[in-house]
Amino acid sequence: MEKIVVDKEKCIGCGLCVHSHPEYLVFDEMGQADPVDKEVAPEDKMDILETVEHCPTEAIKVEQE
Ligand code: SF4
Repeated sequence: MEKIVVDKEKCIGCGLCVHSHPEYLVFDEMGQADPVDKEVAPEDKMDILETVEHCPTEAIKVEQE
């Protein structure tokens, strides 16, 4: 099962991923991206990988669990 993972050491809270994929990510109390515990649907994967490419700090990725 594939899920989104965010490295909180790197995330600057720009909001790109949260606004692009609100069903997968929310802001935590520190204003950083926080993945909800949701499996990446096959139809969403390409869009999410594009966001992974555009994260300014390379803080987000998709990982196999
Ligand atoms: S795109 Fe990257 S830096 Fe911006 S909120 Fe998402 S994980 Fe954080």
